[in-house]
Amino acid sequence: MENLLEQYAQIVGNEVTDHIRQLANPLKGARILHVNSTKEGGGVAEILNRLVPLKRELGINADWEVITGEKEFYQCTKKMHNSLQGDRDDISSELLAIYEKTNLENFERLKDKLEEADIVFIHDPQPAAFLHYCTGRKGKWVWRCHIDVSHPYRPVWKYLREYIKGYDASIWSLSSFAQPLTHPLYLIPPSIDPLSDKNIELPENVVSEFLDSWGIKKDCPVITQVSRFDRFKDPIGVIRSYRLIKNYVPVQLVLAGGGATDDPEGSQVLQEVKAFAGNDPDVHILELPSDAHRAINALQRGSDIIIQKSLKEGFGLTVTEGLWKGKPVIGGDVGGIKLQVLNHYNGFRVNTPEGAAMRIRYLLKHRELMEAMGRNARQLVLDNYLITRHLREYLTLVVALLLGSEEKIELNYPAH
Ligand code: UDP
Repeated sequence: MENLLEQYAQIVGNEVTDHIRQLANPLKGARILHVNSTKEGGGVAEILNRLVPLKRELGINADWEVITGEKEFYQCTKKMHNSLQGDRDDISSELLAIYEKTNLENFERLKDKLEEADIVFIHDPQPAAFLHYCTGRKGKWVWRCHIDVSHPYRPVWKYLREYIKGYDASIWSLSSFAQPLTHPLYLIPPSIDPLSDKNIELPENVVSEFLDSWGIKKDCPVITQVSRFDRFKDPIGVIRSYRLIKNYVPVQLVLAGGGATDDPEGSQVLQEVKAFAGNDPDVHILELPSDAHRAINALQRGSDIIIQKSLKEGFGLTVTEGLWKGKPVIGGDVGGIKLQVLNHYNGFRVNTPEGAAMRIRYLLKHRELMEAMGRNARQLVLDNYLITRHLREYLTLVVALLLGSEEKIELNYPAH
């Protein structure tokens, strides 16, 4: 059985994987611990599920732990998440006390690992207070922020900043997402894994079977949004766009989503979406379990156009996934979608349901253009947003933090 890196080499080329091996050489045996708040559902879990095994294969002692808490803890962290993305949502002192208590309890549970690790990556706000309780740390601590904190609700950011400022560094997905801090800030956009169930090539008959199982017709274009049921993803706006298109051309809409275990608002939004959709047979609302990766893969491949009409977005992994499958993407003009969707090249960025409807109608009328955009879409991801690029940047950061100027790594460029 080939090792993982050899399999990636077949997609990205040997030069890329050789560089990764060279970067990992001085890190053999290093203890790297990631902590986040969910094993499945949402972009962070997707990435960690693949990055951690890859690091292990490279001889790094990589590990991943998950913070757990009661319902109120997730209510609090959901509010934090929304406030950091701009909602004016005050968090009561009772909820903050639960946040602190949960962090302390989880810290105590993981204390030995956290104190011994050479590098600790803390993902997002949920476990951010760990460092405050860690008096005997040996390694470097990095806060990895996956969300857009460009215009936070100040009281909530001020509260969280007290915990963040003690970290040795922080990582942000885009420069515009970051807040000023006194430690070094690094920019690392996330990535997708071309070998995961979510993204691997699928035979046409598998795609077709999935579409049949959901009652999706083959002879009518399919527009799909895959997202947690979250207001920032604007599922209602997507339905409005669909209705505007439907007035002129036949089309089917799929809204597929499931719950991340750290998102208590999901079921309420889902009910609102179902009520708004009514009983239109061409609107398919699919509630998928969080491990339905092949199903989502098939759905993205079986769609004509991918939509991600977010009003706020982190990086937008669903966009990357859609582009990788060679589909034009209609995306909200926010967050990481701005990096990934380039107007007239691989899709269109839009601000309103009307704008989305106009662009989709245009694409459906120009099939050859859609195909050309699909090719551009895949190439953009191949060049920029695969896990190999992501891993390489993490390793570079770890080398810099652990070895500083002591170690110089000469990356071997093959002679041309
Ligand atoms: N996802 C999933 N099931 C769902 C909804 C989303 O597996 O029901 C996946 C999706 O394919 C993507 C990730 O979760 O890989 C969502 O990442 P994104 O950055 O788009 O949004 P987030 O949920 O992190 O805001």
